Amino acid sequence: MPPAAGRRSDSAHPRHDPRLSRRLLLQAGGISAGTLALGINAPHARATPLAGDPFTLGVAAGSPGDQSMVLWTRLALDPLAADGHGGMPLENVTVRWEVARDKEFKDVVQRGTAVAQPALAHSVHPQVTGLRPATSYWYRFRVGDQISPVGRFRTLPAAGQLVPEFTLAAASCQAWYHGHFTAHRHLAAESDLDLVVFLGDYIYEYAIVAGDNLWRKNASVTAAEEVEIETLEQYRLRYARFKADPQLQAAHARAAWVFTWDDHEVENGYARRHSRDGIPDALFPHRIAVAYRAFYENLPVSVEALPDGPSTTIYDSYDIGSLARLMMIDGRQHRDLQPTGDDRYDPERTMLGETQERWLHERLQESPARWNMIGNAVSMIPVRPDTELDSWDAYPAARGRLMRSLDGVSNPVVLTGDIHRAVAAELPADLTDPTGRKLAVELICTSIGSDGDGAETDGYADDWLRYPYVRFYHARRGYLLVRLTPEEMTSTYVSVEWVEADDTAPRQVAAAFRTPAGTSRLDPIEGAL
Ligand code: FE
Ligand code: CA
Repeated sequence: MPPAAGRRSDSAHPRHDPRLSRRLLLQAGGISAGTLALGINAPHARATPLAGDPFTLGVAAGSPGDQSMVLWTRLALDPLAADGHGGMPLENVTVRWEVARDKEFKDVVQRGTAVAQPALAHSVHPQVTGLRPATSYWYRFRVGDQISPVGRFRTLPAAGQLVPEFTLAAASCQAWYHGHFTAHRHLAAESDLDLVVFLGDYIYEYAIVAGDNLWRKNASVTAAEEVEIETLEQYRLRYARFKADPQLQAAHARAAWVFTWDDHEVENGYARRHSRDGIPDALFPHRIAVAYRAFYENLPVSVEALPDGPSTTIYDSYDIGSLARLMMIDGRQHRDLQPTGDDRYDPERTMLGETQERWLHERLQESPARWNMIGNAVSMIPVRPDTELDSWDAYPAARGRLMRSLDGVSNPVVLTGDIHRAVAAELPADLTDPTGRKLAVELICTSIGSDGDGAETDGYADDWLRYPYVRFYHARRGYLLVRLTPEEMTSTYVSVEWVEADDTAPRQVAAAFRTPAGTSRLDPIEGAL
């Protein structure tokens, strides 16, 4: 089967040919790269039926194109089994999938077969091609007579297509143990939603311990989860713990997702191949390799994200007709180590690495889109330039280069995660002149669960609000809705009052802003609350 015709142009594609580097793994699995990527044929598959429901981790769609989509599920009969195998037999299992124009599956437009193999934690990532642009579809999987929940996605508009409106949700930081995924419940119920943009910290690697960091009421964990995760099996179990949550599953079933990661998909504060927590450089690449592997296994990402040891490519660019270009960047894998002193101002220091930085510059400069959005993990706003060690503040030369790349680009918008707070800012073109010309809007989306209930405001508010370009600060859990039209962007901060006790907190709007095209303003929308 050929690659997706409409997914991305070759020039948009950042990667090398993934097949060579994965030859070893694929030979071990007895199947070809094309079979793995596209989900066709079923060699050596198990003949006897599975005992029970294998769809306990839900379904997902992602890596969207205008005619293609990656579907995902990971089979697990016993998702929290201590050995990380999900209670699955160590055999290949044949998985059938189908895509329909209606949720009753009367009008099935595509069907196929994928192989769930133990080497990839019984995940499948079939890439469906030949779909129609800007069209809603429903999908499901089947193993034997077991049928999965139904998921839904919308293909992207075709290149150059005039798009009257497009709505995305931005979310990050889902520490399952800090609270219920109430925000995902509301996200899944949004009536208009074309895409979910996830900005990092999909899992956290810490030990989960009752009486310590397990703030989610009426939840308990197994002994296998009471340790910091290090091995492939432990990362698989941790993903299973988070993904067994029904609200997260509902959010995945609602729309296609795109991803970047931050640090906690591997370990707090790591940089390139260096642990900030004292794991020797000789050992840490192994940790990265298994963490990146589990990231691939558990998310609806394309086969290009399957790592080759401790290296992979997850940055990517998505065109939403002529309305918007969304560039998801990887600020973790290629960054220089955090500064220890004056080396912070070294002009050579990089956040993205040279190759990705050049790619991003070209994607921005060549963009035909009205809105140009960067999906980014850590804050660009210069807030605590002297003490902040992990965000763009610690990489001022790299941030300056990115700001210059954004200058002159049509309507730049930076979407950000990481800080577990909602912040909206008008970024000045010259960061040393906070009252000067504005260049871009940065929208930080708070967390889904991390830091628990939070409050309307907290002790960090003044750090942010003392800058005139920061227009909003809010310290509860939630997500951000961004509605784009050719004329304006509307940003709505959805918030929930509590997450620790239960998942019943109602959907509230903490603030909403209008950004007219051609400006970098955040005009408050009165009456949105
Ligand atoms: Fe986080
Ligand atoms: Ca983080």
